[in-house]
Amino acid sequence: MLHEELIHPSQNHSLEIAPRSKSPQVYMETFGCQMNEYDSELVRSLLKTQGFGFTDQSDQADVILLNTCAIRENAHNRVYGHLGKLKYHKKERGVVIGVLGCMAQNLKKELLESQPFIDVLVGPDGYRQLPSLLTKAMETQTRGLSVDLSEYETYEQILPERVGGVNAWIAVMRGCDNFCTFCVVPYTRGRERSRDPKGILEEAQGLAARGYRQITLLGQNVNSFQFERYDFAQLVTAVADIPGIERVRFMSPHPKDFPPALLDVVAQHPHVASQIHLPLQSGNDRVLDAMGRNYSQGDYRRLVDDIRRRGDIPLTTDIICGFCGESDAEYRDTYQLIEEMSYQAAYIFKYSERKNTIAAKKFPDDVAEATKHERVAELIDLQKNISLQKNQELIGQTVDVLIEGDAKKSSQQWMGHTESNITVVWDKSLQPSHPGEFLPILIEDASASTLFGRPLQSLPLS
Ligand code: SF4
Repeated sequence: MLHEELIHPSQNHSLEIAPRSKSPQVYMETFGCQMNEYDSELVRSLLKTQGFGFTDQSDQADVILLNTCAIRENAHNRVYGHLGKLKYHKKERGVVIGVLGCMAQNLKKELLESQPFIDVLVGPDGYRQLPSLLTKAMETQTRGLSVDLSEYETYEQILPERVGGVNAWIAVMRGCDNFCTFCVVPYTRGRERSRDPKGILEEAQGLAARGYRQITLLGQNVNSFQFERYDFAQLVTAVADIPGIERVRFMSPHPKDFPPALLDVVAQHPHVASQIHLPLQSGNDRVLDAMGRNYSQGDYRRLVDDIRRRGDIPLTTDIICGFCGESDAEYRDTYQLIEEMSYQAAYIFKYSERKNTIAAKKFPDDVAEATKHERVAELIDLQKNISLQKNQELIGQTVDVLIEGDAKKSSQQWMGHTESNITVVWDKSLQPSHPGEFLPILIEDASASTLFGRPLQSLPLS
């Protein structure tokens, strides 16, 4: 029989962990967004300093952790699918099973009741407790929970354990105060709090010293970043000024309060990528109001005009199709605005009700599933054509690409991104190069998602 223990994040209750002859091995899978990837890097760091090791073989692990996402239905369903498989590991080998992240926070009661083999449940503000909870679960079969939200936790002083490469993410703030009606983040990640810029800059300087060339600053709503009198535009500038950091990106800003000073930094700073992810969600005012987004399509248009007056700054966006009560005419407004905005790319999702959100309590989820799917498919088609056309316009041009590693489909090819974040692929044999290097690539072909080319100073073809 497992016992339950509820631990508050503000308690300094770390257990003394007895020295072990062999460090317990942890296998961890991460679902969802970049913030979750970053949190997994924090978790790796916290566990390693407490004597845990990591393995990429789930069948050799003493502990299996799932770092979960509650925002998208797809990630949510995948986690449930994985939990089904974990029962086997529990039964056959008695491994300790831990569920972390947003689902742990939002669905704690449901998860504990429906998945009795879960040993440890830890929300995004409870990771400091994870080593002690896992140790206790291994040694005394005690079920452990840390699911209280904190107003202060920013994991200051914890350097994430990164897996290498040339890109790194830094979370500059946690939580969100916006309460968009469809979104579960304010309930799973709590209220907004910004990190001390001193710690962020030290982290970025350490990354530059280790050869990272590109940094993405993360937050649920980065333009709300504020630490005393220090704002986000100042932070982006300071990170981009660090010698060795060649490109700085950020995500995601909210269209309702995009500061002009930040637009100036994007347009002018040579080391800030000239590209903005600007979530639209809907192009219809009634729907935007019901979503609690606090801007109209007119406000959004004016912001985009303001951006484009400053130069050619490619935009990407997020769209939700089939939000509560969305009529055909309202959906058409979104379609037209996507056409008009000519985004570089759009992440298009169907609305799925998330437990505990304002929309779940206030509005019926009344757009038929088939209609949602049709709308998503039509918008994806529209955006594919726009992206293809924009990418084809680059054929014959030279773009600066940061080499990031092997292409997904072939280790004989390099993969990197342009400043506007378009994937570029080319044959390694054309020029000796290495990840972290910037190369001018002449674009020769394009699909909706990828550019294909050759380095400007390629070796002669043999
Ligand atoms: S801004 Fe809205 S959509 Fe984004 S995390 Fe906050 S509540 Fe969610």
